[in-house]
This record gives sequence, structure tokens and C-alpha cells, in this order.
Amino acid sequence: MSAYEHEVKALLSAAGVPVPRGVVVDDLDFGRAGELTEPLVLKAFGPGLVHKSDVGAVALGLSRKDLAGAAAGMRARLEVAGFLVEEQAEAGVELIVGLVRDPGFGPVLLTGLGGVWTEALRDTALRLCPISEEDARRMLASLRGSSILYGSRGAPPVDVDAVVKLLMTVGGPGGLWERLELGEFELNPVIAGPSGVIAVDARHLPA
Ligand code: ADP
Ligand code: MG
Repeated sequence: MSAYEHEVKALLSAAGVPVPRGVVVDDLDFGRAGELTEPLVLKAFGPGLVHKSDVGAVALGLSRKDLAGAAAGMRARLEVAGFLVEEQAEAGVELIVGLVRDPGFGPVLLTGLGGVWTEALRDTALRLCPISEEDARRMLASLRGSSILYGSRGAPPVDVDAVVKLLMTVGGPGGLWERLELGEFELNPVIAGPSGVIAVDARHLPA
């Protein structure tokens, strides 16, 4: 199953995964973004746009009046099917949460330090689904960089309970792993802050 980010987010949001408020706009009329709180993020979507920031399809820190210009710039460079405009989450610790279906082991939950550094850090933990809350806490504690979550260098601790809740929503009993139609997916990043988590990117992994 392949779908655009906003479609994956709609499914996940209905299942209890927190995602930013956003609207989909298919032309250059951004009036519908009026209901969103600035700062805003503009993301172009289209058949060839997978790693959006690599190709300049994500613009952060926009005000409403910046949208049309930023969108026109993307349209000039990229093959765009439409735009997602969403509220920009506050900065925090970026995590990856993924669900992969191993042909031998079955559904496996993955989490780790995410964002643009996921590949470089290779700091992830895996568990077979369904996981327990204790498993979720152990996965987080097992990360080499776990001190970032629990507060370090003057930064406040993140809301670990909210991270655990998200891991349970995906990988716990009755979680999203049971929904075969969702296939394999990846939330990267999930931004964890002192008062909650939010999945600001979501995509299906190609079958
Ligand atoms: P991609 O992974 O396809 O390049 P993302 O949707 O992950 O694109 O956006 C790139 C980066 O922009 C993210 O890793 C995150 O740091 C930031 N970002 C994206 N959407 C938001 C948002 N709604 N709020 C805050 N930051 C965001
Ligand atoms: Mg991403």
C-alpha cells in the first residue's frame, strides 16, 4: 500500500497517533491554511517525492503570507501533485518509530534516535509485537543516546510516558501492528518534548 504523507497521517491519527494539524491544498490558494496556527510548514507531495527534504520539498518556519511564494518555488523545481500545510511542532528530541514485518519473525517494532541522523547514529531498538509497556520502557532505556530522553546538559527530560504510549499504540496489544492493511510504515521523526510527542512525518515503506 502506498499513500501520501497526509493519507498515512489521517489513518494514524484516527488510531490515536498524535500528528500536526494540517490541510491539503492542491492549487496556490492557501485560504484553508487560515485555520492553522503559525509557524507553518509547507510540504509538496507527488509520485516522485519520497525523501522530501533532500529535494527541497519541505519549508519550515513560514507565516501564512510566505506560503504562496514557497509553493511557487517548489512547483518551479519539482513535479508536484499538491501541498500539505501543517502547524510546526516545537523543537524537541527527534525519534524514529517504525513497524516492519519480518518474513521469519513477524511484526517488529523499531524505535531509536531519529530525524536526519537516524542512519548515521544507528541507535535503534527492536522488539517483536505485541510489546508490553515494560518492553517499551526497556527499548528506550537501551538506546546508547537514551540520556537525551531523560534530560541532559540542561535540556528538560522528554515526556517518556507519552513516548511509551505511542510505542504501545503501534506495537502493543491491539495496536497498529495487527492491521495488516497498514503494511510497514515509519514515523520519522516523532518529536518528543517535555509535554508530549507528535509524529511530524509518516510514510508507508514500499512492499
Ligand atoms: P522527509 O523525511 O521526507 O525529508 P519530513 O516530513 O520528515 O520530510 O520533514 C523534514 C524535517 O522537517 C523533519 O525531520 C523535521 O525535522 C522537520 N519537520 C517536518 N514537519 C514538521 C512539523 N510539522 N513540525 C516541526 N518540524 C517538522
Ligand atoms: Mg521524515
